[in-house]
Amino acid sequence: MSKQLQAIRGMHDILPTQIALWQRLEDTVRGVLDSYGYTEIRTPLVEVTELFKRSIGEVTDIVEKEMYSFDDRNGDSLSLRPEGTASCVRAAIEHGLLAQPQRLWYRGAMFRYERPQRGRYRQFHQIGVETFGLADPEIDLELILLTARLWRLLGLNDFRLEINSLGDPDERAAYRTQLVAYLSAHAAQLDADSQRRLTTNPLRVLDSKHPHTQQIVAGAPALMDYLGDDTRRHFERVCHGLDAAGVTYRINPRLVRGLDYYNRTVFEWITDNLGAQGTVCAGGRYDGLVEQLGGKSVPAVGFAMGLERLVELLELAGHVAAPPVDVYLVAVGEAAQQVAPIVAERLRDAVPRLRVLTHCGGGNFKNQFKKADKSGARFALVLGESELEQGLFSLKPLRDEGEQQLLTFEALATFLGEQL
Ligand code: ATP
Ligand code: MG
Repeated sequence: MSKQLQAIRGMHDILPTQIALWQRLEDTVRGVLDSYGYTEIRTPLVEVTELFKRSIGEVTDIVEKEMYSFDDRNGDSLSLRPEGTASCVRAAIEHGLLAQPQRLWYRGAMFRYERPQRGRYRQFHQIGVETFGLADPEIDLELILLTARLWRLLGLNDFRLEINSLGDPDERAAYRTQLVAYLSAHAAQLDADSQRRLTTNPLRVLDSKHPHTQQIVAGAPALMDYLGDDTRRHFERVCHGLDAAGVTYRINPRLVRGLDYYNRTVFEWITDNLGAQGTVCAGGRYDGLVEQLGGKSVPAVGFAMGLERLVELLELAGHVAAPPVDVYLVAVGEAAQQVAPIVAERLRDAVPRLRVLTHCGGGNFKNQFKKADKSGARFALVLGESELEQGLFSLKPLRDEGEQQLLTFEALATFLGEQL
Protein backbone atom coordinates (compact mmCIF):
# COMPACT_ATOMS: atom_id res chain seq x y z
CA MET A 1 0.00 0.00 0.00
CA SER A 2 1.34 3.44 -0.81
CA LYS A 3 2.12 5.83 2.02
CA GLN A 4 -0.52 8.43 2.90
CA LEU A 5 0.54 11.76 1.45
CA GLN A 6 0.89 14.64 3.89
CA ALA A 7 1.38 18.38 3.85
CA ILE A 8 4.99 19.55 3.76
CA ARG A 9 6.71 19.93 7.14
CA GLY A 10 6.15 23.42 8.50
CA MET A 11 3.21 24.08 6.15
CA HIS A 12 -0.24 23.75 7.61
CA ASP A 13 -3.83 23.38 6.55
CA ILE A 14 -6.15 25.86 8.19
CA LEU A 15 -9.18 23.74 8.94
CA PRO A 16 -12.87 24.67 8.95
CA THR A 17 -12.87 24.55 12.77
CA GLN A 18 -10.10 27.16 12.86
CA ILE A 19 -11.21 29.46 10.10
CA ALA A 20 -13.60 31.65 12.09
CA LEU A 21 -10.75 33.09 14.18
CA TRP A 22 -8.68 33.75 11.07
CA GLN A 23 -11.56 35.51 9.41
CA ARG A 24 -12.29 37.56 12.50
CA LEU A 25 -8.65 38.63 12.65
CA GLU A 26 -8.46 39.39 8.94
CA ASP A 27 -11.76 41.29 8.94
CA THR A 28 -10.73 43.37 11.93
CA VAL A 29 -7.37 44.27 10.40
CA ARG A 30 -9.04 45.15 7.14
CA GLY A 31 -11.59 47.35 8.89
CA VAL A 32 -8.85 49.24 10.72
CA LEU A 33 -6.80 49.68 7.55
CA ASP A 34 -9.88 50.97 5.73
CA SER A 35 -10.49 53.49 8.46
CA TYR A 36 -6.97 54.89 7.96
CA GLY A 37 -7.36 55.08 4.20
CA TYR A 38 -5.00 52.25 3.21
CA THR A 39 -5.65 50.28 0.02
CA GLU A 40 -4.83 46.67 -0.68
CA ILE A 41 -2.28 45.53 -3.23
CA ARG A 42 -1.89 41.91 -4.39
CA THR A 43 1.39 40.77 -5.87
CA PRO A 44 2.54 37.33 -7.12
CA LEU A 45 3.77 34.68 -4.69
CA VAL A 46 6.82 34.11 -6.85
CA GLU A 47 9.42 36.68 -7.89
CA VAL A 48 12.87 36.59 -9.44
CA THR A 49 15.39 35.63 -6.74
CA GLU A 50 17.39 38.74 -7.55
CA LEU A 51 14.65 40.94 -6.09
CA PHE A 52 15.09 39.48 -2.61
CA LYS A 53 18.87 39.41 -2.84
CA ARG A 54 18.92 43.08 -3.70
CA SER A 55 16.36 44.19 -1.14
CA ILE A 56 16.62 41.96 1.91
CA GLY A 57 20.40 41.67 1.55
CA GLU A 58 22.75 38.88 0.51
CA VAL A 59 24.07 38.27 4.01
CA THR A 60 20.79 38.06 5.88
CA ASP A 61 19.49 34.77 7.28
CA ILE A 62 16.55 34.92 4.91
CA VAL A 63 18.58 35.11 1.73
CA GLU A 64 21.48 32.98 2.92
CA LYS A 65 19.52 29.99 4.11
CA GLU A 66 15.76 30.43 4.25
CA MET A 67 14.56 31.01 0.70
CA TYR A 68 12.67 28.53 -1.43
CA SER A 69 14.53 29.18 -4.65
CA PHE A 70 14.41 27.13 -7.82
CA ASP A 71 15.17 27.41 -11.50
CA ASP A 72 12.10 27.47 -13.71
CA ARG A 73 12.07 25.70 -17.07
CA ASN A 74 13.88 28.63 -18.64
CA GLY A 75 16.68 28.42 -16.14
CA ASP A 76 15.67 31.68 -14.41
CA SER A 77 16.13 31.64 -10.65
CA LEU A 78 12.80 32.29 -8.92
CA SER A 79 11.86 32.33 -5.25
CA LEU A 80 8.71 31.97 -3.21
CA ARG A 81 8.38 35.30 -1.45
CA PRO A 82 9.80 35.24 2.08
CA GLU A 83 8.21 38.62 2.91
CA GLY A 84 6.05 41.25 1.26
CA THR A 85 8.00 44.50 1.20
CA ALA A 86 10.26 43.71 -1.75
CA SER A 87 7.29 42.81 -3.97
CA CYS A 88 5.38 45.95 -2.97
CA VAL A 89 8.35 48.14 -3.82
CA ARG A 90 8.88 46.33 -7.11
CA ALA A 91 5.22 46.72 -8.03
CA ALA A 92 5.11 50.36 -6.97
CA ILE A 93 8.10 51.17 -9.19
CA GLU A 94 6.88 49.03 -12.08
CA HIS A 95 3.43 50.62 -12.18
CA GLY A 96 4.46 54.20 -11.49
CA LEU A 97 2.67 54.37 -8.15
CA LEU A 98 5.36 56.51 -6.60
CA ALA A 99 4.38 59.79 -8.25
CA GLN A 100 2.20 60.45 -5.20
CA PRO A 101 2.22 59.22 -1.62
CA GLN A 102 0.87 55.72 -1.17
CA ARG A 103 -0.56 53.88 1.80
CA LEU A 104 -0.73 50.23 0.80
CA TRP A 105 -1.39 46.95 2.54
CA TYR A 106 -1.09 43.31 1.55
CA ARG A 107 -1.88 39.91 2.98
CA GLY A 108 -0.93 36.37 2.22
CA ALA A 109 1.40 33.45 2.53
CA MET A 110 5.16 33.86 2.96
CA PHE A 111 7.73 31.09 2.75
CA ARG A 112 10.92 30.59 4.74
CA TYR A 113 12.93 27.44 5.19
CA GLU A 114 13.27 27.72 8.96
CA ARG A 115 13.25 25.07 11.66
CA PRO A 116 9.54 24.55 12.31
CA GLN A 117 8.47 25.09 15.92
CA ARG A 118 5.72 26.86 17.82
CA GLY A 119 5.06 30.19 16.11
CA ARG A 120 7.60 29.49 13.37
CA TYR A 121 6.54 27.77 10.18
CA ARG A 122 7.77 27.34 6.63
CA GLN A 123 4.59 28.68 5.14
CA PHE A 124 3.11 31.42 7.29
CA HIS A 125 0.83 34.38 6.73
CA GLN A 126 1.34 38.06 7.14
CA ILE A 127 -0.64 41.20 6.80
CA GLY A 128 1.66 44.11 6.12
CA VAL A 129 1.55 47.79 5.38
CA GLU A 130 3.89 49.86 3.22
CA THR A 131 3.74 53.62 2.81
CA PHE A 132 5.70 55.52 0.19
CA GLY A 133 6.54 59.17 -0.26
CA LEU A 134 5.97 60.17 3.37
CA ALA A 135 9.09 61.33 5.16
CA ASP A 136 7.72 62.88 8.35
CA PRO A 137 7.84 61.07 11.68
CA GLU A 138 4.04 61.44 11.90
CA ILE A 139 3.62 58.57 9.47
CA ASP A 140 5.87 56.33 11.59
CA LEU A 141 3.61 57.34 14.46
CA GLU A 142 0.45 56.64 12.46
CA LEU A 143 1.58 53.08 11.78
CA ILE A 144 2.24 52.42 15.44
CA LEU A 145 -1.07 53.98 16.50
CA LEU A 146 -2.87 51.93 13.86
CA THR A 147 -1.42 48.70 15.26
CA ALA A 148 -2.18 49.79 18.84
CA ARG A 149 -5.81 50.35 17.81
CA LEU A 150 -5.90 46.93 16.24
CA TRP A 151 -4.77 45.19 19.42
CA ARG A 152 -7.44 47.08 21.37
CA LEU A 153 -10.15 45.99 18.95
CA LEU A 154 -8.96 42.40 19.11
CA GLY A 155 -8.87 42.49 22.90
CA LEU A 156 -5.17 41.64 22.95
CA ASN A 157 -3.59 43.72 25.67
CA ASP A 158 -0.53 41.76 26.72
CA PHE A 159 1.74 43.41 24.18
CA ARG A 160 4.68 45.65 24.77
CA LEU A 161 6.07 48.05 22.22
CA GLU A 162 9.81 48.40 21.68
CA ILE A 163 11.24 51.07 19.45
CA ASN A 164 14.65 52.23 18.36
CA SER A 165 16.28 54.39 15.74
CA LEU A 166 18.84 52.89 13.41
CA GLY A 167 19.97 56.29 12.17
CA ASP A 168 20.71 57.15 8.58
CA PRO A 169 23.23 55.14 6.54
CA ASP A 170 26.24 57.39 7.22
CA GLU A 171 25.50 57.48 10.94
CA ARG A 172 25.14 53.74 10.95
CA ALA A 173 28.41 53.33 9.06
CA ALA A 174 30.25 55.40 11.68
CA TYR A 175 28.63 53.36 14.42
CA ARG A 176 29.39 50.12 12.66
CA THR A 177 33.11 50.86 12.68
CA GLN A 178 33.04 51.44 16.44
CA LEU A 179 30.91 48.37 17.02
CA VAL A 180 33.22 46.14 15.00
CA ALA A 181 36.23 47.49 16.89
CA TYR A 182 34.54 46.73 20.21
CA LEU A 183 33.26 43.28 19.22
CA SER A 184 36.55 42.27 17.60
CA ALA A 185 38.27 42.89 20.91
CA HIS A 186 35.91 40.29 22.40
CA ALA A 187 35.66 38.03 19.37
CA ALA A 188 36.85 34.91 21.16
CA GLN A 189 33.89 35.09 23.58
CA LEU A 190 31.22 35.44 20.90
CA ASP A 191 29.16 32.49 19.67
CA ALA A 192 30.05 31.08 16.25
CA ASP A 193 27.17 32.78 14.41
CA SER A 194 28.08 36.16 15.85
CA GLN A 195 31.75 35.68 14.98
CA ARG A 196 30.71 35.14 11.40
CA ARG A 197 28.36 38.16 11.47
CA LEU A 198 31.17 40.31 12.80
CA THR A 199 32.43 40.54 9.25
CA THR A 200 29.19 40.08 7.29
CA ASN A 201 26.49 41.89 9.28
CA PRO A 202 27.82 43.16 12.63
CA LEU A 203 24.62 44.95 13.69
CA ARG A 204 22.88 41.59 13.83
CA VAL A 205 25.20 40.58 16.66
CA LEU A 206 23.26 43.06 18.78
CA ASP A 207 20.13 40.93 18.79
CA SER A 208 21.87 37.59 19.28
CA LYS A 209 19.91 35.36 21.65
CA HIS A 210 23.13 33.75 22.88
CA PRO A 211 23.61 34.50 26.63
CA HIS A 212 27.40 34.90 26.38
CA THR A 213 27.13 37.17 23.38
CA GLN A 214 24.40 39.17 25.13
CA GLN A 215 26.79 39.87 28.00
CA ILE A 216 29.39 41.23 25.60
CA VAL A 217 26.76 43.21 23.72
CA ALA A 218 25.59 44.86 26.95
CA GLY A 219 28.88 46.76 27.04
CA ALA A 220 28.90 47.70 23.36
CA PRO A 221 28.60 51.31 22.20
CA ALA A 222 24.97 52.37 21.60
CA LEU A 223 23.74 53.38 18.15
CA MET A 224 21.62 56.11 19.78
CA ASP A 225 24.81 58.01 20.61
CA TYR A 226 25.74 58.20 16.94
CA LEU A 227 22.55 59.81 15.67
CA GLY A 228 22.78 63.25 14.06
CA ASP A 229 20.40 66.11 14.86
CA ASP A 230 17.87 65.26 12.12
CA THR A 231 17.53 61.60 12.96
CA ARG A 232 17.42 62.36 16.66
CA ARG A 233 14.64 64.91 16.16
CA HIS A 234 12.75 62.46 13.95
CA PHE A 235 12.91 59.84 16.67
CA GLU A 236 11.90 62.30 19.40
CA ARG A 237 8.82 63.32 17.43
CA VAL A 238 7.74 59.69 17.18
CA CYS A 239 8.27 59.27 20.91
CA HIS A 240 6.41 62.46 21.78
CA GLY A 241 3.51 61.39 19.60
CA LEU A 242 3.32 58.07 21.40
CA ASP A 243 3.37 59.89 24.74
CA ALA A 244 0.61 62.22 23.62
CA ALA A 245 -1.50 59.29 22.41
CA GLY A 246 -0.96 57.42 25.66
CA VAL A 247 0.84 54.49 24.08
CA THR A 248 3.45 52.97 26.37
CA TYR A 249 6.77 51.92 24.85
CA ARG A 250 10.31 51.03 25.73
CA ILE A 251 13.31 52.31 23.83
CA ASN A 252 15.44 49.25 23.14
CA PRO A 253 18.85 50.30 21.81
CA ARG A 254 19.55 46.68 20.82
CA LEU A 255 16.55 46.41 18.52
CA VAL A 256 18.01 46.16 15.01
CA ARG A 257 15.63 43.95 12.95
CA GLY A 258 16.78 41.13 10.72
CA LEU A 259 16.55 42.77 7.34
CA ASP A 260 19.20 45.08 5.96
CA TYR A 261 17.05 47.82 4.52
CA TYR A 262 15.83 49.61 7.63
CA ASN A 263 16.88 53.10 8.75
CA ARG A 264 15.65 55.50 11.44
CA THR A 265 12.54 54.22 13.27
CA VAL A 266 12.19 50.50 13.89
CA PHE A 267 9.60 48.93 16.17
CA GLU A 268 8.30 45.59 17.39
CA TRP A 269 5.22 44.50 19.28
CA ILE A 270 6.15 41.64 21.57
CA THR A 271 4.23 39.29 23.86
CA ASP A 272 5.41 36.87 26.54
CA ASN A 273 2.49 34.53 25.92
CA LEU A 274 3.89 32.68 22.93
CA GLY A 275 7.14 31.25 24.24
CA ALA A 276 10.28 32.04 22.29
CA GLN A 277 8.48 33.42 19.22
CA GLY A 278 7.12 36.53 20.89
CA THR A 279 7.24 39.15 18.15
CA VAL A 280 3.82 39.53 16.56
CA CYS A 281 4.41 42.65 14.51
CA ALA A 282 7.55 44.35 13.34
CA GLY A 283 8.47 47.19 11.07
CA GLY A 284 10.27 50.38 10.43
CA ARG A 285 11.49 52.95 7.99
CA TYR A 286 13.37 51.98 4.84
CA ASP A 287 14.02 55.22 2.98
CA GLY A 288 16.79 53.80 0.77
CA LEU A 289 15.09 50.70 -0.58
CA VAL A 290 13.07 52.13 -3.44
CA GLU A 291 16.13 53.73 -4.97
CA GLN A 292 18.18 50.61 -4.29
CA LEU A 293 15.65 48.66 -6.37
CA GLY A 294 15.84 51.08 -9.28
CA GLY A 295 13.11 53.58 -8.41
CA LYS A 296 13.50 57.23 -7.53
CA SER A 297 14.52 58.19 -4.04
CA VAL A 298 11.28 57.91 -2.08
CA PRO A 299 10.94 57.60 1.69
CA ALA A 300 9.09 54.55 2.94
CA VAL A 301 7.92 53.00 6.17
CA GLY A 302 5.97 49.83 6.89
CA PHE A 303 5.41 46.82 9.08
CA ALA A 304 4.25 43.22 8.92
CA MET A 305 2.39 41.09 11.42
CA GLY A 306 2.42 37.31 11.73
CA LEU A 307 -1.11 35.95 11.58
CA GLU A 308 -0.37 32.49 13.00
CA ARG A 309 0.99 34.08 16.16
CA LEU A 310 -2.00 36.42 16.46
CA VAL A 311 -4.49 33.60 15.90
CA GLU A 312 -2.78 31.58 18.62
CA LEU A 313 -3.08 34.55 20.98
CA LEU A 314 -6.77 34.90 20.20
CA GLU A 315 -7.21 31.20 20.94
CA LEU A 316 -5.30 31.51 24.22
CA ALA A 317 -7.42 34.52 25.18
CA GLY A 318 -10.44 32.23 24.94
CA HIS A 319 -11.92 33.64 21.79
CA VAL A 320 -14.28 30.97 20.62
CA ALA A 321 -15.23 30.63 17.03
CA ALA A 322 -18.85 31.60 16.41
CA PRO A 323 -21.03 28.74 15.17
CA PRO A 324 -21.14 28.82 11.39
CA VAL A 325 -24.96 28.79 11.11
CA ASP A 326 -28.04 30.26 12.75
CA VAL A 327 -30.72 27.92 11.45
CA TYR A 328 -30.59 24.24 10.57
CA LEU A 329 -33.49 23.25 8.33
CA VAL A 330 -34.83 19.81 9.19
CA ALA A 331 -37.02 18.32 6.45
CA VAL A 332 -38.68 14.95 6.96
CA GLY A 333 -40.52 13.15 4.17
CA GLU A 334 -40.04 13.44 0.45
CA ALA A 335 -42.39 16.39 -0.06
CA ALA A 336 -40.76 18.42 2.70
CA GLN A 337 -37.31 17.49 1.47
CA GLN A 338 -38.18 18.84 -1.95
CA VAL A 339 -39.45 22.22 -0.79
CA ALA A 340 -36.72 22.70 1.85
CA PRO A 341 -34.20 24.40 -0.49
CA ILE A 342 -36.95 26.77 -1.70
CA VAL A 343 -37.97 27.64 1.85
CA ALA A 344 -34.32 28.28 2.66
CA GLU A 345 -34.03 30.62 -0.33
CA ARG A 346 -37.12 32.58 0.77
CA LEU A 347 -35.72 32.82 4.26
CA ARG A 348 -32.36 34.15 3.03
CA ASP A 349 -34.27 36.70 0.92
CA ALA A 350 -36.38 37.77 3.86
CA VAL A 351 -33.63 37.92 6.50
CA PRO A 352 -30.36 39.20 5.07
CA ARG A 353 -27.27 37.87 6.87
CA LEU A 354 -29.22 34.91 8.28
CA ARG A 355 -27.10 31.78 7.92
CA VAL A 356 -29.25 28.82 6.93
CA LEU A 357 -27.99 25.27 6.56
CA THR A 358 -30.38 22.83 4.89
CA HIS A 359 -30.27 19.19 5.83
CA CYS A 360 -29.27 16.97 2.96
CA GLY A 361 -29.62 13.22 2.83
CA GLY A 362 -33.01 12.29 4.35
CA GLY A 363 -33.41 10.39 7.63
CA ASN A 364 -35.96 10.55 10.44
CA PHE A 365 -36.50 13.42 12.90
CA LYS A 366 -34.20 12.01 15.56
CA ASN A 367 -31.39 11.55 13.08
CA GLN A 368 -31.76 15.02 11.60
CA PHE A 369 -32.01 16.70 15.00
CA LYS A 370 -28.73 15.12 16.00
CA LYS A 371 -27.10 16.70 12.97
CA ALA A 372 -28.81 20.03 13.69
CA ASP A 373 -27.39 19.95 17.20
CA LYS A 374 -23.92 19.08 15.99
CA SER A 375 -23.92 21.93 13.49
CA GLY A 376 -23.87 24.43 16.34
CA ALA A 377 -26.98 26.16 14.99
CA ARG A 378 -29.08 28.18 17.42
CA PHE A 379 -32.37 26.98 15.93
CA ALA A 380 -33.78 23.96 14.17
CA LEU A 381 -36.47 24.85 11.68
CA VAL A 382 -38.73 21.87 11.20
CA LEU A 383 -40.58 21.03 8.06
CA GLY A 384 -42.62 17.82 8.30
CA GLU A 385 -45.84 16.54 6.81
CA SER A 386 -48.09 18.34 9.28
CA GLU A 387 -46.24 21.67 8.87
CA LEU A 388 -46.55 21.36 5.12
CA GLU A 389 -50.29 20.71 5.40
CA GLN A 390 -50.81 23.72 7.65
CA GLY A 391 -48.42 25.96 5.74
CA LEU A 392 -46.64 26.68 9.04
CA PHE A 393 -43.11 26.24 10.38
CA SER A 394 -41.88 24.81 13.71
CA LEU A 395 -38.90 26.59 15.20
CA LYS A 396 -37.05 24.91 18.05
CA PRO A 397 -34.28 26.62 19.99
CA LEU A 398 -31.24 24.35 20.29
CA ARG A 399 -28.99 26.41 22.57
CA ASP A 400 -31.16 28.64 24.73
CA GLU A 401 -34.19 27.96 26.86
CA GLY A 402 -37.51 28.46 25.12
CA GLU A 403 -40.47 26.64 23.67
CA GLN A 404 -40.89 25.30 20.20
CA GLN A 405 -43.07 27.73 18.24
CA LEU A 406 -45.41 27.14 15.32
CA LEU A 407 -45.18 30.17 13.03
CA THR A 408 -46.31 31.53 9.70
CA PHE A 409 -43.50 32.34 7.30
CA GLU A 410 -43.87 36.08 8.00
CA ALA A 411 -43.77 35.60 11.76
CA LEU A 412 -40.80 33.28 11.38
CA ALA A 413 -38.87 35.81 9.31
CA THR A 414 -39.63 38.62 11.76
CA PHE A 415 -38.61 36.52 14.74
CA LEU A 416 -35.34 35.37 13.17
CA GLY A 417 -34.55 38.89 12.03
CA GLU A 418 -34.78 40.01 15.65
CA GLN A 419 -32.36 37.30 16.75
CA LEU A 420 -29.43 38.55 14.67
P1 ATP B 1 11.55 36.43 14.01
O1 ATP B 1 12.49 37.29 14.78
O2 ATP B 1 10.44 35.86 14.83
O3 ATP B 1 12.24 35.43 13.14
P2 ATP B 1 11.49 38.20 11.75
O4 ATP B 1 12.21 39.39 12.23
O5 ATP B 1 12.16 37.22 10.89
O6 ATP B 1 10.81 37.43 13.00
P3 ATP B 1 9.75 39.66 9.98
O7 ATP B 1 10.44 39.26 8.75
O8 ATP B 1 9.89 41.04 10.46
O9 ATP B 1 10.10 38.63 11.13
O10 ATP B 1 8.21 39.32 9.86
C1 ATP B 1 7.21 40.01 10.59
C2 ATP B 1 6.40 39.05 11.45
O11 ATP B 1 6.05 37.89 10.73
C3 ATP B 1 7.15 38.51 12.66
O12 ATP B 1 7.12 39.43 13.71
C4 ATP B 1 6.34 37.28 12.97
O13 ATP B 1 5.17 37.60 13.69
C5 ATP B 1 5.97 36.78 11.61
N1 ATP B 1 6.88 35.71 11.18
C6 ATP B 1 8.13 35.83 10.66
N2 ATP B 1 8.65 34.63 10.36
C7 ATP B 1 7.70 33.71 10.67
C8 ATP B 1 7.62 32.29 10.58
N3 ATP B 1 8.60 31.57 10.08
N4 ATP B 1 6.49 31.68 11.00
C9 ATP B 1 5.46 32.40 11.51
N5 ATP B 1 5.46 33.73 11.61
C10 ATP B 1 6.57 34.39 11.20
MG1 MG C 1 13.16 35.44 11.27
